[in-house]
Amino acid sequence: MTRSLTPRIEINLAKIAHNASTLVGIYGAKNIGLMGVTKTVCGAPEIAKVLLEQGIPMLADSKLLNLKRMRDAGIKADFVYLRSPSLSEVDMVIEYADISINTELAVVTKLSEAALVSNIVQNIIVMIEMGDLREGIMPEDLDCFIQEVLTLKGIEIVGIGVNFACFGGVKPDNRKMDDLSLLASMIETKYTLPLSYVSGGNSANYEWFMGAADVGKVNNLRLGESIYLGRETLNRLVIPELYTDAFTFISEVIESKVKPSMPYGEIGQNAFGEVPQFQDRGLMNRVIVGVGNQDVMVSGLTPLLDIEILGSSSDHTVINAKDSNLRVGDEVTFNLNYGALLSLMVSPYVEKKYSYVI
Ligand SMILES: *Cc1c(COP(=O)(O)O)cnc(C)c1O
Repeated sequence: MTRSLTPRIEINLAKIAHNASTLVGIYGAKNIGLMGVTKTVCGAPEIAKVLLEQGIPMLADSKLLNLKRMRDAGIKADFVYLRSPSLSEVDMVIEYADISINTELAVVTKLSEAALVSNIVQNIIVMIEMGDLREGIMPEDLDCFIQEVLTLKGIEIVGIGVNFACFGGVKPDNRKMDDLSLLASMIETKYTLPLSYVSGGNSANYEWFMGAADVGKVNNLRLGESIYLGRETLNRLVIPELYTDAFTFISEVIESKVKPSMPYGEIGQNAFGEVPQFQDRGLMNRVIVGVGNQDVMVSGLTPLLDIEILGSSSDHTVINAKDSNLRVGDEVTFNLNYGALLSLMVSPYVEKKYSYVI
């Protein structure tokens, strides 16, 4: 039997489908539609297809190359560019995104020019700052921004959005969501501009949603992590009935030896410019798995076995194997957090293996 290659990430499409359809049901109960965020999985067409099949017709990504990847694979969806474009990529935005999120007039002006050249309309969602302090227009500047954008040809404002819990860790609570609804009403009334999307946030909005008697005008969320890892993101609590192990990471033991637990000799910097500290725990069963910081955010890995990650360099991860009896060639399986998932999906060194049954 030929061995499966390592390192590899095993991707259970049936579990992702279950999570996606469950979330469509949960949020749909209060008329909130979803965008499936694909940046987490590097725009993998296999996964995009699953999201579409489960009733998520909009796919959002913060990399234009991921949007291109999905389009080239024949995926038919409404594609959203989930990051305010840089001026240098405006032409690509017109080519690959049906909708882009925006916060800068200079960029929207360029989008307008490019849209006119291509004889198309670029739809935009205007992002508003509400405290997390990443992207967004300050609410007091919103009116002015919209007035300016309405004068631009080839641009249509189709929605407004906010983002939370990404930079400042700020919670999307009732007050923030009510403020968003008020802004939406103001814009719709003042400019007779119906907003198709009032996009209230991401996987961090679960707690607000479950507690909200009335979601106001919020009719859209952009979900990545809760689809893929089954958790909300304010406290990383598991969302009932969702799978947290749709993705697992497999590495392979390339060295297994009993060694001291304390490095010996004169100590300087390690590979990453740190001077590491170690405790003497006597002799230790140590294994190395053939994976490192070049392949994965090692700190985001949790082994299923009772073993302990001691540290990693570019291509090696050193593990206290304890009583696991791991030998060369043995596979070691890990659960992933968001950072580990992101890094594994973009790594060309990591094999992607899809399965279709739970
Ligand atoms: C990444 C991202 C999301 C998705 O966030 P999750 O926590 O994975 O649900 C939503 N909106 C924006 C603007 C993003 O950049």
